[in-house]
Amino acid sequence: MAGRVQGKVAIVTGAGSGGAGIGNGKAAAILLAREGAKVVLVDLNRNAAEETQAIISAEGGESIVCVADVSSARACDAIVATTTKAFGTVDILHNNVGIEEAGGLEDTSEESWDRTLAVNLKSMFLMCRAAAGPMKAQRSGAIVNISSINAIRTLPAISLAYGVSKAGVIAFTREVAVEFAATGIRANSILPGMMQTPFVVTSLTEAYGGDISAMTSQRDALCPTGKQGEGWDVANLALFLASDEAKYITGAAVIVDGAQTCRI
Ligand code: NAP
Repeated sequence: MAGRVQGKVAIVTGAGSGGAGIGNGKAAAILLAREGAKVVLVDLNRNAAEETQAIISAEGGESIVCVADVSSARACDAIVATTTKAFGTVDILHNNVGIEEAGGLEDTSEESWDRTLAVNLKSMFLMCRAAAGPMKAQRSGAIVNISSINAIRTLPAISLAYGVSKAGVIAFTREVAVEFAATGIRANSILPGMMQTPFVVTSLTEAYGGDISAMTSQRDALCPTGKQGEGWDVANLALFLASDEAKYITGAAVIVDGAQTCRI
């Protein structure tokens, strides 16, 4: 049976995980490959991307690793050039890279603000701009941009720059969706809630007092289901939005949070 994205070419940014386990980008890359896509695994960290590649290869999938920093325009252009050279086109662009440096107005440095906006928001502009050419040429493409419920709600670990960058991702995605709707290119954003991923351990342990298991219990308790989600929950939606099953869904901002935003 053909996979849900059989024969498509997908770029996943942040396709490794910033620690042991399965993050959102790693899960999305594995699912896209499992469903038949050829996947370009973009990451700053070669080892992390190669770990994802090993999982994909063990399942019989096809992928290449591309080490790059998606906050650089030249790197984003090079990622798309590498992709079209290897696989002929780009059908799916999954913009997953994001960093979080917790802090409010008075304890966010100018450097942290600039870095967060560059890595979380400018990167999406640069990657979409680079991929628009091949997508327009074939009159089809699916873009999935990872935002956060922090774009629409303030969470316990106050992250001013992060929340602003993720709100920008929703607006950016909406603008692109409308601009390109008649060209066959779709763009949607996903707003994950509290997910138990390596990203959280790396980014937020300090903001929760330095104790990982206490942080996990606190975050679980904040979720109406009593449990955080996992990378696969975000990846399953990303796969659907990237597939032709979602052919009339564009400009949407979809929440995956176990009803958390319903309560806060
Ligand atoms: P992750 O494990 O932290 O990151 C995936 C990979 O991205 C890491 O290997 C990281 O490398 C790499 N990376 C970081 N900056 C990069 C850059 N400038 N260029 C290329 N690669 C870069 O994260 P994830 O679990 O895949 O997903 C994180 C995404 O989900 C973010 O957009 C985040 O905002 C969003 N999100 C997460 C949650 C949650 O609760 N987990 C909730 C809402 C939204 P290094 O490790 O070397 O930095």
